Amino acid sequence: MFNDDAYFRFGNLIGYRDSFSDTTLTNDKLVGILQQAIKSSNLTLICFDDKNRLTYANSKAFEMFNVTSSESLEKTFFEWIQTPSKQIEYSNWCQIFESCEGEKVFDIICHHMNSSEGKLRSTIYIIDECIPGSSGKAGVRYRQMHDPLTGLLNREGFCHVVEKYRSFHRSDSGAHYLIITNIRDFKLINQINGDKFGDSILKTTGRIIKSLMYADDIYGRLYADKFAILVPEKNYDKAMYHSMINLIRSQIASEKQILRIQAGVYKMDTMTDDVSAMCDRAMMALNSINSEDPVTFAFYDPEMMKQAITEKIVVTHFESALKGGEFRIYLQPQVNQNEELIGCEALVRWKRDDNTVIPPNAFIPVLEKSNLISHLDTYVWEMAALKLREWKHTEFRDLYISINVSPRDMEFMDVYEVITGLVRKYGIDPEKLHLEITETALMRNPSGVSEMILRLKEDGFIIGIDDFGSGYSSLNMLKDIRADIVKLDMGFLSKSDNEDRSRIIIDSVIYMAKRLGMSTVTEGIETPQQYEELSSMGCDIYQGYLYSKPVSVMDFETKYSRIYKSESII
Ligand code: C2E
Ligand code: CA
Ligand code: CA
Repeated sequence: MFNDDAYFRFGNLIGYRDSFSDTTLTNDKLVGILQQAIKSSNLTLICFDDKNRLTYANSKAFEMFNVTSSESLEKTFFEWIQTPSKQIEYSNWCQIFESCEGEKVFDIICHHMNSSEGKLRSTIYIIDECIPGSSGKAGVRYRQMHDPLTGLLNREGFCHVVEKYRSFHRSDSGAHYLIITNIRDFKLINQINGDKFGDSILKTTGRIIKSLMYADDIYGRLYADKFAILVPEKNYDKAMYHSMINLIRSQIASEKQILRIQAGVYKMDTMTDDVSAMCDRAMMALNSINSEDPVTFAFYDPEMMKQAITEKIVVTHFESALKGGEFRIYLQPQVNQNEELIGCEALVRWKRDDNTVIPPNAFIPVLEKSNLISHLDTYVWEMAALKLREWKHTEFRDLYISINVSPRDMEFMDVYEVITGLVRKYGIDPEKLHLEITETALMRNPSGVSEMILRLKEDGFIIGIDDFGSGYSSLNMLKDIRADIVKLDMGFLSKSDNEDRSRIIIDSVIYMAKRLGMSTVTEGIETPQQYEELSSMGCDIYQGYLYSKPVSVMDFETKYSRIYKSESII
């Protein structure tokens, strides 16, 4: 049962440092001593075999659970403990136990003994009362500071412990890291699989964090799926956090559930920020993550604070600005191969009271992130539809207006209903309203979007794929999406170091689009040479600064009222 090494270590423990060859300490004697120690220990010790059948429990265990038979102990124990994951060799957590004596808090250590092939052999639980007599005030305080689900510190506890730590380490020279982890789409996981499944994810996460941290790391669950860890630099090891996150994923991920875990990291050289400022910064880093990768780390950068302030301003003022008419559409002309005006793209601008004009790149991504984009797009589409109705009886009657559809619009409204509703309301020809849908929108929900495109096409709308080539699966997508137009961005394509290769790509896309029965629009045309070149490749429609920047509707109408369709517009 005991090998020489075990003998040697036990000998050291009891101060018997000589060789054991002539010892009177036999196997039986050693086992006897240990058994006696366990029996009379104040710790609860419970052991199970690989099938979770009780193999040993000391008298303290029977006493704690107030049972007399092994069967009852097995049952009562598992009802309380809920089996932790089998692959973690060691885990340690706190848990409340209610008995006739009231509530007590216990610290539980769980060891899984595995064979060399990694097969579970036995599990040993060592249970110790955290604060003896904690059914009184100690228990109340403990509960205020701890999360009952994971046994870790809760937000209040974490902040309290970090502040205490800070009071001792404020002038330390070493850096610290505050890490906040997030499980992507946790709400959705809960909705699909039920709260119990969600709870088991959180419990496993808590146990793994606890089992891997150093004694001087501070960690807790702030709320929902957000766990926070404060680590001094000497303990910080990014590779270890990657492994930790991968371990959490491997424990929880199942066939039906792929987990993506993200971490926001704030590195501080001094401990001058208070705990809420630290958490804010780690959260900003976390919120900056767009990646769909299974594991992503993002570090706080002061630019994020600036960005957060801008976002706050946009979100705060958006609704009133929309009501107050601060959003306007600007129009940018599109011309055919003879450089005659045939339509335009509606591009939104935010014109503030002080006449400053904010470009869309400064607010559209923010509105997309905060789920407000559909309010703006509905407004822009309505402005475009209104303009088309007005133009019906003017020289602009043949022009179309192309509107942008954000990938997020599809999540918040029935785009088909809104668009067809506008056409009915304003009595316009669907062919005059072109829709630009980006590749990202198509990739997020390919079957849903492709079905919507088919319905819109049946109703006579013209659909274009915006920024073609900027996504990952452009070619594959063309197979399933029956759009009318492929829109290429010159600026995007000519950024390549190798212009010759870009040219070959553009030429091939135009050729391919033609064979698929689609027209091509190239935007970002700035020079006559670009026009010449694209024209020789067979591009159908052109848009860019060469013809005009996006201009206000009034300027557009003034500029094109006379020359429209009568001659080339440059
Ligand atoms: P986009 O749809 O790809 O629009 C083309 C952008 O390229 C426009 O920028 C336009 O001003 C710019 N552009 C046009 N010709 C040239 C050129 O020759 N050279 C250069 N360098 N740029 C050119 P803008 O208006 O700032 O719009 C930026 C993006 O904002 C748009 O990209 C679109 O994704 C988004 N956006 C604009 N209006 C709306 C809207 O009403 N709804 C939604 N969802 N997105 C919009
Ligand atoms: Ca566009
Ligand atoms: Ca574009």
